[in-house]
Amino acid sequence: MARLELDSVTKRFGEGDGSVLAVDDVDIDVADGEFLVLVGPSGCGKSTTLRMVAGLESITDGEIRLDGERMNEQGPAERDIAMVFQSYALYPHMTVRQNMRFGLEESTDLDEAEMDRRVDETAALLDITELLDRKPGALSGGQRQRVALGRAIVREPKAFLMDEPLSNLDAKLRSQMRTELQQLQADLDTTTVYVTHDQTEAMTMGDRIAILDAGELQQVATPLEAYHRPANRFVAGFIGEPSMNFIECDIDGDALVRESFHYPLSAEAADAVAGAANVTLGIRPEDVSVSVDSRGNSDGDDADTDSHSFAATVDVVEPMGDENVVHLSLADGPKLVATVDGLRRIEDGADVVVVIPENAIHVFDADTGDALH
Ligand code: ATP
Repeated sequence: MARLELDSVTKRFGEGDGSVLAVDDVDIDVADGEFLVLVGPSGCGKSTTLRMVAGLESITDGEIRLDGERMNEQGPAERDIAMVFQSYALYPHMTVRQNMRFGLEESTDLDEAEMDRRVDETAALLDITELLDRKPGALSGGQRQRVALGRAIVREPKAFLMDEPLSNLDAKLRSQMRTELQQLQADLDTTTVYVTHDQTEAMTMGDRIAILDAGELQQVATPLEAYHRPANRFVAGFIGEPSMNFIECDIDGDALVRESFHYPLSAEAADAVAGAANVTLGIRPEDVSVSVDSRGNSDGDDADTDSHSFAATVDVVEPMGDENVVHLSLADGPKLVATVDGLRRIEDGADVVVVIPENAIHVFDADTGDALH
């Protein structure tokens, strides 16, 4: 079993006024065999967190345990963990076979035959057998990527750590490797922490995702939980493409209001938001319906549609093929993005009616960002 626990892990670079709190009191519990994706914007502390787990960075505070055993004082070579870097970090003067064997020679005392057996088996798994005698310079980016993975896999470590391993590949190869890597991880059943800034990668690959912002853990959840029940405004805006729309509102009784905008809430939603002073209404672009019919009820079939309909003007329509991304301005100013079927014709500048269905809204406390509803 290789459960990986991060317990109040903190990293501070430097001391005094100029110090940087890169990772702030982070708790993450990665189950044996789990694929956990650590995601967040540039500079949020993902790589630092991973490097602390690998032993490449000291831990200022807190504890990291693998299989219940404290790792803090162990060097990278003592931890039974293999890391795959964005840069692949292959040795250019060694063949693929030598690159893959090198890690084994360093970290194990296996005999020659066993090392060769593992390299051959891993090469077959990754479909790189015919590349074993080549040097990295004679490989494509995707092939180098596989070799870097192979070097980690041959070690049969307790855990894999991967730092943006697909980011040097072109979009098509990246999406293919994403699927392969996910399949491979599931087959090997090895506990994995995968770092990326790409929310699509996080959503599609992770059993669970841990979302970081400014060194602080925002939420650990399955991708669908993070999407449908974001813990706060940051997560809501980070997960999903195009991003969730946010409209700043005041509360007036059972409604969210702003100038020429009155959004009635259900009793349950009104209860949930009652304590807050200012709130942010969140709605995903795919949940906003757009109607050129002035009555605004062509795609709404709920009886309550009218009270959740608003006049808007189309600023610009971005055709994406399967869908159109429609940028709108509501009557009193706030901007809204809606995605609609790619076959629908909506003209720039058109006057439309948008429906923001009550069952799809999120409400956040405007001060703390916490989800209220
Ligand atoms: P990216 O996606 O851009 O790699 P990241 O989320 O991995 O970003 P980190 O590299 O972990 O972020 O950096 C977190 C914070 O710590 C940043 O503010 C960064 O400037 C700072 N930092 C990282 N390494 C050091 C260092 N050696 N000395 C001082 N500050 C550092």
